[in-house]
Amino acid sequence: MRFRTKILLSTVLVLALSFGVGGTLLLSLSFSSLLGEEEDAAVQSYRMVQSTLSLVNAVSDQTGPEDVADILSQLAGQQPGGGITLRVREGAGETVYLGDSRFSDLLLDLWADTQEEQGVMQLFSAGESRYYQITSQFRMGETVCYLDGLYDMSSVYALRESQQQIYFRVFWVVVALGGALSWLIATLLTRPLTRLSRTAQSLAQGDLSRRSRIRGGDEVAALSKEFDRMADSIQDYVNQLQETMRRQEEFMGSFAHELKTPMTSIIGYADLLRSQSLPPEDARQAANYIFREGSRLEHLSLKLLDLLVLGKDDFALTRTDLPQLARQVRNTMEPVAEKNGVRLRVYCQPGSALLEPELAKSLILNLLDNGRKALDGDGEKTLLLGIQPTGDDGCEIQVMDNGRGIPPEEIERLTEAFYRVDKSRSRAQGGAGLGLALCREIVRIHHGTMTFQSELGKGTLFTVDLRGGDASREENGRL
Ligand code: ADP
Repeated sequence: MRFRTKILLSTVLVLALSFGVGGTLLLSLSFSSLLGEEEDAAVQSYRMVQSTLSLVNAVSDQTGPEDVADILSQLAGQQPGGGITLRVREGAGETVYLGDSRFSDLLLDLWADTQEEQGVMQLFSAGESRYYQITSQFRMGETVCYLDGLYDMSSVYALRESQQQIYFRVFWVVVALGGALSWLIATLLTRPLTRLSRTAQSLAQGDLSRRSRIRGGDEVAALSKEFDRMADSIQDYVNQLQETMRRQEEFMGSFAHELKTPMTSIIGYADLLRSQSLPPEDARQAANYIFREGSRLEHLSLKLLDLLVLGKDDFALTRTDLPQLARQVRNTMEPVAEKNGVRLRVYCQPGSALLEPELAKSLILNLLDNGRKALDGDGEKTLLLGIQPTGDDGCEIQVMDNGRGIPPEEIERLTEAFYRVDKSRSRAQGGAGLGLALCREIVRIHHGTMTFQSELGKGTLFTVDLRGGDASREENGRL
């Protein structure tokens, strides 16, 4: 059953019960009070006749039936209206007086139940009408007589009947109006719930952009706010998942492509060696190709392994002496730089930082190697490395070259795996597009940031801020 129908039915039920019970109570109270009043009026009128008769009897003991009939006829004219008829009987026998003969059949024989001082009253119905009869004894001379007074109560019952009819009409009108009103209110109250449920259905069907946006200060509005917040989180999460999937697909595609080129060369040269007897010089050259491409594959697999390893976060950071780190890097890099005609300058301020030394070294070497590879033009080739401690545990590393620079539109994607600005040149230089992806992971492990400024034809400056593993100091840094 719908919630709206439940509200409607319960409202109608409460309304019908309260109005029904209250109305019926009111009607019966009003009826009994009216009946009581009518009975009082009948008793009063009866008493008046009674006292007149006892007065006459007291004045003379010679009062006879004719006198009684005479007095009662006179009194009948003065009756205030409640009485219908009076009857006087001598003992249980002869009727001395009967006011209106039409009612003689209606009058009951109540005389036997009366006592000297105590009369009898009885309410009874005859046909459609209701009557109230009072009977009591009185003395006419020496004879005991009975006075019957018959009073019509039908008007009270007729009034109750008409009140009941009106009441029933009003009851149905009130219940119908109340029902319509409660349907309207229930519709208004449940409208936000319907909206919330439609939004939930849309979300379930995959439309993650749909929101309920119910305004107000009630519980449903609060629920809607929470619901929309949940939908926002789900959408963000799904977007992230989609982005990760896209990157993974790209990664797999690039990886397959990276494998294909060296494998084709290796297979081609190996086939040549195996199927023909080549002159020694050609055979050496073919073996050289196989060796070089094999080495590239090995290099690629090692870098990929590094990336996979860096994906795990269980690295211990140790206090590392920065000048010593700078020396190690220079020793590794200097022969390569010299070979390429690059002037390497290393500056390091004394101090230490919390680092994973091997990873930090790998990070700096990758950046320096990128700088070296960018220095492929004419003129003076300079590569600068600056290291300085920051705070208690952190350090800042800067690598600058005056090489070819990076086009601004490429900067966004530099740290993606397999991404290279100039593919053929990079491949010729032995790059696989994984260097900066590795750097990004190393910076992440150190809770740091990596930013770069570059100008085409002038050079590039990489700035890495490592915070010694203090995640709380991590800002919205850009990698
Ligand atoms: P690779 O391993 O091929 O060097 P990286 O991920 O290290 O790949 O770098 C991605 C690309 O960014 C490189 O192909 C190169 O074109 C560009 N790049 C990186 N550093 C520099 C730099 N200092 N100057 C110019 N281009 C750079």
